[in-house]
Amino acid sequence: MAQQYIDLHVHSTASDGTMSPAQLVRYAKEKGLSAMALTDHDTIDGVPEAMAEAAKQHFELVPGVEISVTYPKGEMHILGYYLDIASPSLMQALQELRRHRDERNPKMIACLNRLGLKITMEEVAAEARGTIVGRPHFAAAMVKKGYVLTLAEAFEKYLGSGKAAYVPKERLTPEEGIKLIREADGLAVLAHPKYMAAESFANFERTLQNLISYGLNGLEVYYSEHSSAETQAFLEIARKYNLLVTGGTDFHGHNKPDLQLGIGFGELHIPYELLEQMRTVKTF
Ligand code: AMP
Ligand code: FE
Ligand code: FE
Ligand code: ZN
Repeated sequence: MAQQYIDLHVHSTASDGTMSPAQLVRYAKEKGLSAMALTDHDTIDGVPEAMAEAAKQHFELVPGVEISVTYPKGEMHILGYYLDIASPSLMQALQELRRHRDERNPKMIACLNRLGLKITMEEVAAEARGTIVGRPHFAAAMVKKGYVLTLAEAFEKYLGSGKAAYVPKERLTPEEGIKLIREADGLAVLAHPKYMAAESFANFERTLQNLISYGLNGLEVYYSEHSSAETQAFLEIARKYNLLVTGGTDFHGHNKPDLQLGIGFGELHIPYELLEQMRTVKTF
């Protein structure tokens, strides 16, 4: 049988992607993928719709999430797979994160207004089709109103970390994020390690050891932005610590226009066997 491929890192309209969960399932099937995980930022709201469409299409959909956690030196995101989406502690924690966003967003509006950009919360919210309203939706509203030409320009000038309209987001600690996923019977995986290995590799390894002590199960070795040298290095470190190896594109639809589902910038081929490995660890 021909090699089967998967994509375990995908965003829908439930967070900052531009395709709905059901559309994504149909698109993944059309593209010939054998399975896909939906991993929206800080929400599992899209999962029921994706599961229902997957059942209709006889497609394998893995329930997932991507949680932003505190990390002073950059970005740390923890992916959760095969979680029990009815877990009360999970639902409560995600609800809390949403409440923090609801407090943060008006602060970013106020900053933009002070800078002379006449943007309202309603205009930003109109760009979001799900319950998560974040910076990409601010960027889209700013493009629409002609204050910037592209989403990237909105981040470079106003919304990026440290820029004039940036307000930090409340986050769980890495330990809280990992334990939340594990307590909801999920597998916890460190997303796009490239963004953290900006520190030295020795420091990265120490950070990873801590995450493993909290219950980390795997490492996202295959990722759109990883060079082949980085992929190789992360593969070796995953083997060294006996971590599951996962892979995904971080597809966001038009919000990351050059990045394609399943293949990233064209080079990515994530084998189905990785998912089988994950299932051997996860006890259903
Ligand atoms: P938030 O969760 O509201 O802080 O928004 C974070 C999201 O904004 C990320 O998941 C990305 O999708 C997007 N993002 C962050 N930085 C940039 C950037 N420099 N250019 C474009 N999109 C970005
Ligand atoms: Fe995103
Ligand atoms: Fe991420
Ligand atoms: Zn992502």
